[in-house]
Amino acid sequence: MAKNRNLFKLIPKVDELLEEERIKNILDTVPRKYVVDSIREEIELLRDDIKNNRLDEKDINERNKHLIDLVIDRANNKNALHLKRVINGTGTVIHTNIGRSLINEEVMKNVIDIATNYSNLEYDLQKGERGSRYSHLKDILVEITGAEDAMVVNNNAAAVLLVLSTIANEREVIVSRGELIEIGGSFRIPDVMEQSGAILKAVGTTNKTHLRDFENAINENTAGLLKVHTSNYRILGFTSSVLAEELYTLKTKYNLPLIEDLGSGVLIDLSKFGLQYEPTVQDSIKSGVDIVTFSGDKLLGGPQAGIIVGKKEYIDAMKKNPLTRAFRVDKFTISALEATLKFYIEEKIAIEKIPTLNMLSISIEELNKKAIRLYNILMEKISDKKCRFEIVDSYSEVGGGSLPLEKIPTKCIMITLNRLSITSFERSLREYRIPIITRVYKDNMYMDLRTVRESEFNILADGIVYGLNRLKGCIQ
Ligand SMILES: *Cc1c(COP(=O)(O)O)cnc(C)c1O
Repeated sequence: MAKNRNLFKLIPKVDELLEEERIKNILDTVPRKYVVDSIREEIELLRDDIKNNRLDEKDINERNKHLIDLVIDRANNKNALHLKRVINGTGTVIHTNIGRSLINEEVMKNVIDIATNYSNLEYDLQKGERGSRYSHLKDILVEITGAEDAMVVNNNAAAVLLVLSTIANEREVIVSRGELIEIGGSFRIPDVMEQSGAILKAVGTTNKTHLRDFENAINENTAGLLKVHTSNYRILGFTSSVLAEELYTLKTKYNLPLIEDLGSGVLIDLSKFGLQYEPTVQDSIKSGVDIVTFSGDKLLGGPQAGIIVGKKEYIDAMKKNPLTRAFRVDKFTISALEATLKFYIEEKIAIEKIPTLNMLSISIEELNKKAIRLYNILMEKISDKKCRFEIVDSYSEVGGGSLPLEKIPTKCIMITLNRLSITSFERSLREYRIPIITRVYKDNMYMDLRTVRESEFNILADGIVYGLNRLKGCIQ
């Protein structure tokens, strides 16, 4: 015990550490509270280790040498923001867990301008009086989709709820059993209907629904017909669903609104890039659908938003619904969405400027060139014999519950480790300063060039160096 007591004297004092030049320097960027807490915590760990006889004098002196580094690391960690950028090596373009769609940088510059200055958000500059926040998006949405009118709310789930609550409160909405979907985050069509006050009238069967099923269900309490795009799953084999065009004949005959939840809301025919055809918003409007809802941050490639386009009489009614205030979009969203939509005036520009479309349409030759460039950087920076790189063929996914069966050919860098654990390596990449998210399959790691950007190649290489060092015990 006596010996132990002497060891405690080797622990530096909080005030002494605060006087250290390097600690003083980080006070420029890290709040003093975090620095002091970090010093206390590191000292406490040291004290614990001594108390439990885990350290001798030599160990303590060794630890004291690194103490300032440990404190700085700890303080920087405390100061780091919880929501941070990551690198998407998974190849899933609209990855729901890591932020869905990326926004073009020019678009964000405009958002900064709007957010850091006053704007005409709800001000009519011509009349010099109160205006509407929905006015900024209406014209551009009408121009692109061909609809009569448009409005935007927080997300597509809110859009569906608002539409049903406005049109079908305590009345029936007919929908096919094959379209009673659940998408991620517990959005289920039957539950949303119940919340909205609409009464669900499911018709047909899981695999087959016919037009007559809809017609037989129509009665005096019917408020509308609903079609839901089964974004994230497909029924294959002996199937039949009723097309929006067919429902159009019914809706005219019985004078009922036809509603379609498109989910992804693609505005460009993606089959041009070898992807499966996904119904576009324009097609829905053309087939006579009265109200179409879709997301802003899935295939559209903009900010999170729920877009509603269709007949003016219904949009007007929705604007009067008190839920609209609860679901309203903020100025960041309006600004980012308007600027993203502007790209769609020319399809070529949209594909070039919108990251989601760009990543989905990039050619295999381009991917191969990217793979070679990344491979060369990795070979130059990493000479560790325990780690091997190889360019391999693989498949990417669209993600975001869009085109669920689609496998797009891609190029990956495959990383193979020799006598080091790939799962530990995967974890250490995830814990890197800029976390790197990858796919591990059969003991190999894959980095898909479709979702890794050129500007991230060097970060990726540094992350791999960090990960390898951590595995080999060079860093804790
Ligand atoms: C994704 C999706 C939604 C929900 O959209 P959010 O923008 O995530 O709220 C609703 N319906 C369908 C068919 C979808 O695919």
